[in-house]
Amino acid sequence: MESFYIETYGCQMNEADSEYMASILMSLGFERAENLNKADIILVNTCSIREKAEKKVLSFVGRVRPFKEQKNIILGVCGCVAKQEGEKLLGKAPYIDMIFGPYQINKLPELLSRVKSLKKPVIALDDEACFQRDVNALVYPGVRAFIPIMQGCNNFCSYCIVPYVRGREVSREEEEILYEVKRLAKLGVKEVMLLGQNVNSYALDRGVKDGFVSLIEKVSKVEGIERIRFTTSHPKDLTDSLINAFGYIDKLCPHIHLPVQSGSNKVLSLMNRRYSREEYLEKVYKLRKVCPEISITTDIIVGFPGEDDRDFEDTLDLYKQVNFDSAFSFKFSPRPGTKASNMTNIVPEEIKQSRLEILQELQKSITYDKNKMLENKILPVLIESKSKKNEGEFVGRTPCFRVTNIICNNVKSLDMIGQIVDVKILKGLKNSLKAQLVNGD
Ligand code: SF4
Repeated sequence: MESFYIETYGCQMNEADSEYMASILMSLGFERAENLNKADIILVNTCSIREKAEKKVLSFVGRVRPFKEQKNIILGVCGCVAKQEGEKLLGKAPYIDMIFGPYQINKLPELLSRVKSLKKPVIALDDEACFQRDVNALVYPGVRAFIPIMQGCNNFCSYCIVPYVRGREVSREEEEILYEVKRLAKLGVKEVMLLGQNVNSYALDRGVKDGFVSLIEKVSKVEGIERIRFTTSHPKDLTDSLINAFGYIDKLCPHIHLPVQSGSNKVLSLMNRRYSREEYLEKVYKLRKVCPEISITTDIIVGFPGEDDRDFEDTLDLYKQVNFDSAFSFKFSPRPGTKASNMTNIVPEEIKQSRLEILQELQKSITYDKNKMLENKILPVLIESKSKKNEGEFVGRTPCFRVTNIICNNVKSLDMIGQIVDVKILKGLKNSLKAQLVNGD
């Protein structure tokens, strides 16, 4: 049987797209290859948010080239870099067979047959957002499924390329989403992650207010689905009704990823984030009032053009006030085509690096303290898999999304996977928890 391998870079939207491509390929009779050098079709699903995206893609396809010379592999590049660079990629790597954008995934079968019959590279890069997912082709993705509910973004943060490569916000029909959730529940999925660049504005493009809360309420009624999560939320669009949903929708997990990006009002304005640090802190306060155990995670950019010592102090201050459960922090680097790429007042590299280190050290100690505070607590964990590292252990997540390694000495079968079990936290580690089953051994 012929097989495929998909390399995925970037966000959970890309992971969802890759999972969908895998379903399409399996429905065509292909199987997943154990590794790159065994595959007949190799796809790289790219992301252009981070620095050197194109270089990373070219380095990956360069690795594939020797395999291509040995056998007849089809090599495809898709996602945001494909959309952004298009045919230019062929100038640097003429052995690529397919280049297609994020909204062309549904056409994968057709693209493959065109590559085979034309024997020349095929390019498909239309702009329009499309949600034509063949939901019936979806295969079991594991305990958790990523479900795209909208595409694109209207926000134009000054550093971000997404609105240029993914276009404006387009929400998927609620009925289609619910159909997909029900189908996944039947396949055995227990947790859904609703995805969009800014899920808080779901359905606003159709003029529906609070459409996202209404969607979560409906998903929570789907039999078999035990947990609901979502990402990402723009703080300015986090409404009181969504905050309140954490208080009454039992299946909505107590975790929110709320990218703050900076604690300085001056920098937030330069970033075009359209909220102030005070507004952000107020939303955090409300979230904790409605759901005291909520875990709040964030993204931060340090060294944005114009960020001075005082601005960075403001970020540290906000950090300490919020006490984030974890954070992804990055040094600013310009993305061609964005407003920030033309900004002056560049922060020197060594200052960026030192600010990043300060922030990351602070976060490490906050995360560790928070994990320690969970010791001896009993928490419900959704078991996702057997541990790859330790025999006799399973891996799952707490409601607040902490990775938990569970010692289960006497569990022989894999029946545990997909179950929500109560565990006692034995140890809070730097990035995870160690636990044991409450009932059983
Ligand atoms: S909200 Fe801002 S950072 Fe997020 S995708 Fe939209 S433009 Fe990019």
